[in-house]
Amino acid sequence: MERNSRKTIKNTKAGAVLCPVCCVECIKVRFDCEIDGIEIQDVEALRCPKCEEEKFSPEQIEKIIEKIKIKQDQK
Ligand SMILES: [Zn+2]
Repeated sequence: MERNSRKTIKNTKAGAVLCPVCCVECIKVRFDCEIDGIEIQDVEALRCPKCEEEKFSPEQIEKIIEKIKIKQDQK
């Protein structure tokens, strides 16, 4: 859902996130993880290829929260 047609242009490449430490582009990774005893599959994150720090974009965090909610409802 788009609130209005105005768009903010932040990055030249869509979804490109730079590691603030290494200034290299983070790569998209997918993995399974466990948060609060809830197993979540296919979690998307961004990982710096240099320092291997994992970062989450606000959109990715939203998706994780959604997945946790679905799992909690199944209980
Ligand atoms: Zn880094």
